[in-house]
Amino acid sequence: GPAVAARAVTKTYGNGVRAVRGVDLEVPPGEIRAVVGENGAGKSTLMKLFYGLEQPSSGEIVIGGQPRTLRGPASAIALGVGMVHQNLMLVPSFTVAQNVVLGVEPGRRGLVDPKAAVETTARLAEEAGLAVEPRARVEEVSVGMRQRTEILKSLHRKAKVLILDEPTAVLTPQETEDLFAAVRRLRDGGMTVLFISHKLREVREISDQVSVMRAGSLVGTVATADSTERS
Ligand code: ADP
Ligand code: ADP
Repeated sequence: GPAVAARAVTKTYGNGVRAVRGVDLEVPPGEIRAVVGENGAGKSTLMKLFYGLEQPSSGEIVIGGQPRTLRGPASAIALGVGMVHQNLMLVPSFTVAQNVVLGVEPGRRGLVDPKAAVETTARLAEEAGLAVEPRARVEEVSVGMRQRTEILKSLHRKAKVLILDEPTAVLTPQETEDLFAAVRRLRDGGMTVLFISHKLREVREISDQVSVMRAGSLVGTVATADSTERS
């Protein structure tokens, strides 16, 4: 079955804006799926529904075959969903390593063994090919490194689904290239990746299939030229 699915999902915000309208979407395990569409098309809202930052008004989100009945971002950890979005959810005064292991490593009042955290982070970073400085404070590192920290945090939590909301908007070309290499490696290891972008060139380069949203509706899903060449 699909790693993630939306079944007839509609989301109407409190102000009456219907951001997502009757969306049916299935993403198989080990696929990089791009979601494209104009500003306001509902892409971010759909990703928030998958992650649990928002609840559907009607319809159902399915993660790993299970209806997503648990609420809130904390439930995303249990369900194996990680997310990197523009307002990053990290503790700025903590180090990169502390953020990576936060909420998972046993520790008193959220404090973790700094040495073990650094070792774990260095190992994950090496495996994923995502360069970070484990000992640096998050508030002192680049936005790109904060994003890589988010990904490592998801990997440490053994996420099977990774959601990236416009990740390259804040990256240099070199960082983008490195991110894409890491994302491909994760996909080849079985990770399902959902990726919002409005840059068609990079969508063609990185994704297996592209889903197009318009005014809240999913209007189509097509394979990219590159994925045809690969298979
Ligand atoms: P996209 O990511 O494609 O730009 P969004 O999901 O951010 O689209 O937004 C879809 C629509 O929902 C827009 O009209 C936006 O203004 C509205 N919207 C997004 N978030 C909220 C919110 N928290 N409350 C009310 N309306 C929202
Ligand atoms: P993003 O598309 O990454 O969510 P935005 O700048 O569109 O970033 O939105 C920033 C925040 O404001 C988000 O949490 C979004 O849900 C919320 N938001 C967006 N549009 C509206 C809106 N029309 N009314 C209320 N909140 C909104």
